[in-house]
Amino acid sequence: MKNTEHGLKYTRDWHREDISVIIGSTTRVGGDTFLLAAGPCAVESADQMTEITRYLKGSPIRLLRGGAFKPRTSPYSFQGLGVSALKLLRKTADDLGIPFVTEVTDACHLDVIAEHADAVQIGSRNMSSYELLKAVGNLDVPVILKRGMSATVDEFLYAIEYVAHEGNHQIILCERGIRSFDPAFRNVLDLNAVAFLKKRSPFPVIVDPSHGTGRADLILPLSLAALAAGADGVMVETHPDPQQALSDGGQSLDPASLETWYNQVTELARHLGRTI
Ligand code: PEP
Ligand code: MN
Repeated sequence: MKNTEHGLKYTRDWHREDISVIIGSTTRVGGDTFLLAAGPCAVESADQMTEITRYLKGSPIRLLRGGAFKPRTSPYSFQGLGVSALKLLRKTADDLGIPFVTEVTDACHLDVIAEHADAVQIGSRNMSSYELLKAVGNLDVPVILKRGMSATVDEFLYAIEYVAHEGNHQIILCERGIRSFDPAFRNVLDLNAVAFLKKRSPFPVIVDPSHGTGRADLILPLSLAALAAGADGVMVETHPDPQQALSDGGQSLDPASLETWYNQVTELARHLGRTI
């Protein structure tokens, strides 16, 4: 049979119903639930994380994100605080009573990340690092698998297979925008892919409109669009003072815009029958 799913095993044919993934003991992703996830691009300091704890407290954010080991285009850019960032993320998440996810850039960090984090993220640059995919496929921990910035949907589907084939089915897909000819935006958020993946794959699909657009002022409209397109959640970057951020300040929501963002997304989600 000639179709795009030739050779794929972990499709809706394998599992008809939506799969829900539980992160920590509290946070469900998939099904009726719509996940709101937020946190800094990179953990920068204890003070930054204290501020973030203050303004995330009492919010509907159910997953903290934050970079400890940062994959940066330039080796001279801030590379992340490593293990001390993991400890700050653990404390922040515990203070908030929610789990956290952080990116793994190399299999050599997997043990220390799995020791601290509730979920691991495979970033866009590593979607085709097949040995890394196999390594997380052998863990008993939820994986947020981001689409490569130049990966076709088929390539993304095969990356899922690498993780699932090893036995780990706690997979959350993340559309984070793809490269285009147009320099107006960092990336183009591919909502076609979101609607398509929801049909083809039983795994939850979330959207990252921070990296997907590169612009803080586009996060809210694209979050609403992702929700309407059938996504299972949105994950955004936030910073107490985006202009001072060591990475991705231009696509990070400040505390006031974050509040507007989650209030408006929550309102539409409820209207569409989703639970926050
Ligand atoms: C991130 O989420 O911190 C990140 C680096 O995103 P991406 O891998 O999508 O570029
Ligand atoms: Mn970032």
